[in-house]
Amino acid sequence: MDASRRRLLRSIPAVDELLARSEARDLMARYSREVVRDALGLALDEYRDGVISCAQDEPFEADHRGYWARVQRAISRWTNPGPFRVINATGVVLHTNLGRAPLSKRAMRHVSLVAEGYSDLEYDLPGGSRGTRDEYSRELLRRLTGAEDALVVNNNAAAILLVLNTFARGLEVVVSRGELVEIGGSFRIPEVLRSGGAVPVEVGTTNRTHPSDYLDAIGDATAALMKIHRSNFSIRGFVAEVSPDDLASMAEEAGVLSVFDLGSGYLAAADSDLLRGETAVSEAVKSGMDLVTFSGDKLLGGPQAGIILGKRDLLDKLRANQMLRALRVDKMTFAALNSTLASYVEGSELIDIPALRMIAEESERLGERAERMASELRSIFPGGVETMPGYSRIGGGSSPGTDLPTHLVICTPETGEIQDWLSNLRCGNTPVVARAAHGGICFDVRTILPGDVSDLLRSVGDIARSVEGGITDVREG
Ligand SMILES: *Cc1c(COP(=O)(O)O)cnc(C)c1O
Repeated sequence: MDASRRRLLRSIPAVDELLARSEARDLMARYSREVVRDALGLALDEYRDGVISCAQDEPFEADHRGYWARVQRAISRWTNPGPFRVINATGVVLHTNLGRAPLSKRAMRHVSLVAEGYSDLEYDLPGGSRGTRDEYSRELLRRLTGAEDALVVNNNAAAILLVLNTFARGLEVVVSRGELVEIGGSFRIPEVLRSGGAVPVEVGTTNRTHPSDYLDAIGDATAALMKIHRSNFSIRGFVAEVSPDDLASMAEEAGVLSVFDLGSGYLAAADSDLLRGETAVSEAVKSGMDLVTFSGDKLLGGPQAGIILGKRDLLDKLRANQMLRALRVDKMTFAALNSTLASYVEGSELIDIPALRMIAEESERLGERAERMASELRSIFPGGVETMPGYSRIGGGSSPGTDLPTHLVICTPETGEIQDWLSNLRCGNTPVVARAAHGGICFDVRTILPGDVSDLLRSVGDIARSVEGGITDVREG
């Protein structure tokens, strides 16, 4: 390290000295001494790291404003923590990194009602005695899917784990090589099978799997034949797969279970043509597969949850597994899920449930929205603003290859790099997640919720003003 860097490091004062300064005393009027001291230390570490990595060239005292801004930011992380509301301008409706499905208004009201006070979560009101927590969701799911019984757990991964742990521990589960997907976040089906205690037996090839492949693999140690929705990719060309109906009858004949990991859980009514390529949950149930699992926060449009459908005797075995205690869901999830399901019972799912409403929104309407947003942006954005047709994605491992025609607003800045604009948008008061496309900042209006537009415009306005003032990072300003 050269002499000038060493000099910068020597300029760093002790935490105790900083604690005595007036800025620290002002902070201690609001926060405890421990919180302020830890924040001072953290901000010093950041300064030190900056010096060592050559990102920081100013002596400590010259960076006075920057230092106290970092202290304040450290305190805010503890006193005003995330997750934060974010504006999703990516056009990916079920964005796993952005919390997947936004909940409906009625689901939110229900959550807030039962979360704020007491509820009959496990209480039978007429009898005045202990009840079961999944009573309401069971009834709704049976009605909506035609399944004999239903069980709700923490997420679809938990659903698969519980099924395997109950029925396939130490036994083999036969899966097509064409369905061994990685869902994202390094969640891989063969790994999940192994952690559930099962031994995956891969059959067929990537593009073609035939009934005989499954039949040849069935032996004394076989617990189940499993089908997995391909979720995030599609294969085309010289392909063959075994239908759920055929898989179910082969399993039945062989005396083993058939399990269908449906992934998304598309609950649409039989006559809906919203997503024609997607296997509806009721079809999966009708195919005769013994157990069907899917997520609550993908196409269903509800909270994070895993739903298991199947015959009563099988689900009773799942309920008897001690592992269920660790996978069960809380009152807020039940409230959100049941109110979301109630929208389907009423036939108002395309109006109530934001994810479905966004998927169903027609291109023409999106065009009008894009034009309105563009004309507002033109008065505040320093650069070109245009609209153009494009495509949104459903995401969340649903309907791969189904692109939804949309309208994009493209802002091409006169000053500043596009990447800096995107980063500033992500770090504003209401973070906006957008992408770079067509030579500019790209906003897809499909996933921008009605209440988001004014916040998005305010964020763009804030950044525009700081860019004009010569500040490149709005967080420091
Ligand atoms: C998304 C998905 C999962 C995981 O579901 P979570 O609810 O996120 O646990 C499992 N299998 C398939 C096929 C999926 O698409």
